[in-house]
Amino acid sequence: MPIAFADRLNNVETSAIRELFKLLGKPGIISFAGGFPDSALFDVDGIRIAANAALTHEPGAALQYGATEGYQPLREEIARFMGNKGCTDLAPEQLIVTTGSQQALDLLGKTLISPGDKVIVEGPTFLATIQCFKLYGAELISAPVDGDGVQTDALERLIEEHHPKFVYLIPTFGNPSGALLPEERRRKVLAMAVKHQTLIVEDDPYGDLYFDAPPPPSLLALSASVPGSRELLVHCGSLSKVLSPGLRVGWMVGPAELLSKATMCKQFSDAHTSTFAQATAAHYLKSGRMQGTLERVRKVYAERARAMGEALRRELGAAVEFVQPAGGLFIWARLTGQTGLLTDGAELAKRAIENNVAFVPGAPFYASNPDLSTLRLSFATVGLDKIEEGIQRLGASLQQA
Ligand code: PMP
Repeated sequence: MPIAFADRLNNVETSAIRELFKLLGKPGIISFAGGFPDSALFDVDGIRIAANAALTHEPGAALQYGATEGYQPLREEIARFMGNKGCTDLAPEQLIVTTGSQQALDLLGKTLISPGDKVIVEGPTFLATIQCFKLYGAELISAPVDGDGVQTDALERLIEEHHPKFVYLIPTFGNPSGALLPEERRRKVLAMAVKHQTLIVEDDPYGDLYFDAPPPPSLLALSASVPGSRELLVHCGSLSKVLSPGLRVGWMVGPAELLSKATMCKQFSDAHTSTFAQATAAHYLKSGRMQGTLERVRKVYAERARAMGEALRRELGAAVEFVQPAGGLFIWARLTGQTGLLTDGAELAKRAIENNVAFVPGAPFYASNPDLSTLRLSFATVGLDKIEEGIQRLGASLQQA
């Protein structure tokens, strides 16, 4: 007998990207497809010391069930970590710990989205967000994005037209766009939140991965100077991209009422984020090693981003256009079709796999009206030589008849 699955699954397809990932085990392949940090950069010694400290100093708490809101010493460390990034007025009680920021997105879906509710996202946006919000029955509306992130005038028109339940943005080195929203646009977003009384969700797992200069303050940091905006803002953070995704430690800052509903839902979901992971993360943040780790990973990703940008310009020339990212893990590029070359990202991805190089075509990152000519290339896990070689292969794949 066929299993009668819940209706909510009708709204969601398995990701097109999953099919591509099956091919990535091919020997000799150079992959720009992942969305991961480089595991060679993990501060294994620091995490080992932190895990040992957790087991030595508070074995009971680190191995026992814990509070759904999160392990208090970690909430304090996260508040301090955020304080160093301009959120100086954040109290530990104003955030809850989540199992990765992915869980924060799921809790937002659970607590806010009823079937048919409208949610505005960027076009393009994080694929798992699209899938997650659709699972709760959201009707997603895409706001246009340019090299500077979401276009605020267009966003405001969409808010006026659709009265969304909330707006979901990745303002800093977005996945997949790599774009950085300038401070002026950030202030406009906060002003329109207040003017239209619209909830804004800021997803910020990449803000610490800047290359040359720090990005403008987060929406959360800026909200302190925009009266009325803090009560309309949710901020999701994560240790995944800067320390380790395997720890599954993220957090969510938001209005007290929303955090309380999200905590209730989390209780029925995983009871709490791993206490061992939380105690380890707390000791790690307390140890003061994070600054050194951040400096090290920023330097490596900056070199790789530069190498990939240069190789793309050299090997693909006017056949691609992209904005050189100032941080994060991704270059978002568009095939221009110059000199009659291919403009279909998915077709190029197929050819590229045959030539032993992988990337993700951009279309699945759009909730609607996909730009089929887009590509997401991650430089994060590939060494400089392999970046050169991989982009040469990509260039050859594009030239192929
Ligand atoms: N948001 C964005 C924009 C992401 O790119 C990711 C990870 N790829 C996440 C959230 C989830 O990260 P995690 O659950 O590991 O914190």
